[in-house]
Amino acid sequence: MTSPAPKSPPTFLYKADPVRGRQWAEVFREQAPEIDFRIWPDVGDPDAVRFMAAWEPPEQIGELFPHLQVLFSSGAGVDQFDLHALPAHLPVVRMVEPGIVQGMVEYVTHAVLDLHRDMPQYRRQQLRGEWRPLPVRPASQRRVGVLGLGSLGQAVLMQLKSLGFICAGWSRSTHTVAGVDCYAGPDGLCQFLPRLDIAVCLLPLTDATRGILNSEMFSRLPKGASLVHVGRGAQLVSEDLLEALASGQIAQAVLDVTDPEPLPYGHALWRHPHVQITPHIASMTQPQSAAAAVIDNLHRFRAGEPMTGLVDRRRGY
Ligand code: NAP
Repeated sequence: MTSPAPKSPPTFLYKADPVRGRQWAEVFREQAPEIDFRIWPDVGDPDAVRFMAAWEPPEQIGELFPHLQVLFSSGAGVDQFDLHALPAHLPVVRMVEPGIVQGMVEYVTHAVLDLHRDMPQYRRQQLRGEWRPLPVRPASQRRVGVLGLGSLGQAVLMQLKSLGFICAGWSRSTHTVAGVDCYAGPDGLCQFLPRLDIAVCLLPLTDATRGILNSEMFSRLPKGASLVHVGRGAQLVSEDLLEALASGQIAQAVLDVTDPEPLPYGHALWRHPHVQITPHIASMTQPQSAAAAVIDNLHRFRAGEPMTGLVDRRRGY
């Protein structure tokens, strides 16, 4: 039996990078002074903990904090949570905030423009001292598709559309996005892939998307297509990508996420001349806007309104 809910001010417990935590604390002091904001391991009275933001929640969270009402992810995904181990009634909310969206739009736009304007090829030519112009293809003839039409996928597509690219998107359920050809489900994927010059992965990691970037998927792309992978490392089968690069099926890959992270020293992807790797920096939660987004969700929760980014635990995202 759990003890009755305490009368002390509700505690918001932050369990992620403490430097960012102190920036969250500032925002809470200004915008939600009624909340006792604490940074792990300074939990205070465990019975007063009603809200938690975590990258990795503590084990036995339900027993440790019997009055916890909402668990927020401090990042955009919840794949680092063991959703089955959390109390069944506990709402889980992923991070949706403008800083993450802006960072992702910048990263993917940069990667797509880099590929579109043949910069990887020019970098290789420069190493050889080779002056060789390539034909310039207009954006209006370049087909870009985003796997995942969520908050990030749609924002990226809006930017790419404004640059004139031919845009398509793929998701689990059917969507309508102005100026974007939308496809859904396994059948939709078969129609979507053959029409892409550049495929961008912005899917959450779930049982259904683990290993989705594999040789079968690559074989459905036109020969010489490129990949920008900014979802999660475990969605990519590295050996299949190396094979597809060797055969020329995939011309170029930009990888921001790998499995494992960091990618082990000496891994074949590190030195592949047609692969660019960045260390999971495409987009990061910005402490100020993240804390403000969480406070906004706390207001919604208390008003009985739906919270932005509420995770459907059966779907896993
Ligand atoms: P989101 O709003 O939850 O959107 C996810 C999208 O993926 C939805 O359109 C969903 O379809 C689609 N989807 C999920 N499972 C699918 C499946 N099995 N088949 C087809 N489509 C599927 O997520 P988000 O905020 O856009 O973020 C997406 C992911 O980006 C995150 O989960 C994270 O992994 C990654 N990310 C990476 C970085 C980085 O720095 N590299 C930073 C932030 C986020 P429906 O619309 O039909 O539900």
